[in-house]
Order: sequence, then structure tokens, then C-alpha cells
Amino acid sequence: MTKGAGRGRCGTLYVVATPIGNLEDLTPRALRILREVDLVASEDTRHSRKLFNHYGIETPLTSYFQHNEAAKGERLLHALQEGRDVALISDAGTPAISDPGCLLVQRCHEAGIPVSAIPGPSALIAALSMAGLPTERFAFEGFLPAKTHARRQALRPLQSEPRTTVFYEAPHRLAAALQDVRAELGDERSVAVVRELTKIHEELFRGTVAQACEHFSGKVRGEIVLLIGPAEQTVPEESVRDALRRWRAETDLPMREIVKQVAKVYGLSGSEVYKESLALRDEEE
Ligand code: SAM
Repeated sequence: MTKGAGRGRCGTLYVVATPIGNLEDLTPRALRILREVDLVASEDTRHSRKLFNHYGIETPLTSYFQHNEAAKGERLLHALQEGRDVALISDAGTPAISDPGCLLVQRCHEAGIPVSAIPGPSALIAALSMAGLPTERFAFEGFLPAKTHARRQALRPLQSEPRTTVFYEAPHRLAAALQDVRAELGDERSVAVVRELTKIHEELFRGTVAQACEHFSGKVRGEIVLLIGPAEQTVPEESVRDALRRWRAETDLPMREIVKQVAKVYGLSGSEVYKESLALRDEEE
């Protein structure tokens, strides 16, 4: 990468993840890219200046935030078309994840400009990785609505959700959000609250939502990720055979794998489901 325009090729848009608290969480590759590009588009240039000063990065910064996304995006696109390399960063974590960036990335693809991700921290993945809730499948829902009625509507479908669901939440709304989770999903639903990831006061709370309501009833500070565990999947015993039939019809998996999956999904023992698979085979012979 050489600095300067007019090289007869398009530049590249680098989508660069930056620390979510601890400044040491910048990858060496991210650091090199931030030093080498012609321009860094950042959500808040004053905020990014702290990171730049810490690492001695001298690349020019320009602002790119929610309210200038469309107009500023055009200028960045123009710079890229002229051959300048641009890095996109947000205040913290991975751009375009509950942060500006998606629109610019889409515009670059439409214009045939190469886009490259420089992966690194994201609060949702960091929280999931340490919370100890199931991670094989998960859903990320961004921020919950701020008002109770809308929030409860958003939470209601989780009554039967088989995946862990991850939300970003503001500290002053956490207690109310947990009360709504409790009202919609019951006292016993497993939750995790991850606060101040990678910072001095990092905290992980794990427990039922009733316990969480008690734990977070006072004033809460800092940045928060709220995770809601899957709804318990229970099936009446007589329908395990139906489940096996359905998986066989809907997947290409061999029966031994189907047995494993059905046991996992419904929280049954492998031997119990295996017995049902033998009964199914006998029934069909
Ligand atoms: N793009 C960012 C990412 O990849 O993580 C997320 C940006 S979003 C505007 C900011 C929200 O992310 C915060 O309100 C909080 O919910 C969550 N968050 C960011 N940093 C965090 C941290 N250090 N600890 C816990 N949550 C954090």
C-alpha cells in the first residue's frame, strides 16, 4: 500500500475492528492498516484520536457517523474511486455491527470497490464466548426497544426460541429490561449479563432472570451485553419418534447423527433416543 491518489486503480475499503475497552486489543494487522491507508473514517474523531495517540498513528482522520452517513459516504466513495485506501473504524469494536458502516460497505460493492475486513473485537462475540450459554446457534438482536410495551413485544417470541439471544443494552435501562424478560419469559429463564468487557471493572453475571433482577436492582454503570439462554425444548416422549422421522425427511444426516442431534435439541439422553430409533426401524420393517 502506498499513500497518494492517481494510481490508476480503485482503493480498498478496510473495515477495521478496534478495542472495546482495553487498548491492547488492537491486532498488529489492524495497526499496520491504520498506519498505511490514506484516510481513516471514524465515528468520532476525538474518540479515535486517543487510540491514534496511544499507537502513534498519524493517518488523517475524517468523521463518518450516523447523521452524515449518506453525504460523507459519497465523498469516501469518491476517494476510493480515485485510488485512495480508506479504513473505516467505529468508536469501539467492529464497524457496521450496531454501528455505522453497512451503507458504505454496500455502496462500495455496488461500485466495484474492494472491501476487506480486518477482524478483531466485537462486544457480542466477546460476551458470548465468556457467558457459558449455548453458542452453537445464536441470534443477535442489537439494542432492545427503549419503551416497555415495544420491549415486551420484542421479547415475547423468545418464549420458544431455541437459540441464545444477544442484546446490547444501555446501563440505565438494564433493570427495566430484566423485569420485562422476567414478565415475558418467566423467573427461571437463564440469562447472562456481561458488563465492561476488557476493562478494569469487567463483570460477568450468570443465573436466572429472577436472580439477575435482584442483582441489578440498583444503579448500574458501564457498557452492557445481555444474553438470554434458549427456551427449554421439551417434547412429550411419544413424539421423539416423530422428531426422528422429521429430521430424517428434512436432512441428509445418517440416523446415528440424527439421534445425537435430537438428543441434544430436546435435552434427552442419547440412549433414550437411540432406543426410539430402533423402535422406529422395527415399526417400519
Ligand atoms: N460495534 C460494536 C461492537 O462490535 O461491539 C458495538 C457498538 S454499539 C453502538 C455499543 C454497545 O456495544 C454498547 O452499548 C454495549 O451494549 C456494547 N459494548 C461495547 N463495548 C462494550 C464493553 N466493553 N462491554 C460490554 N458491552 C459493550
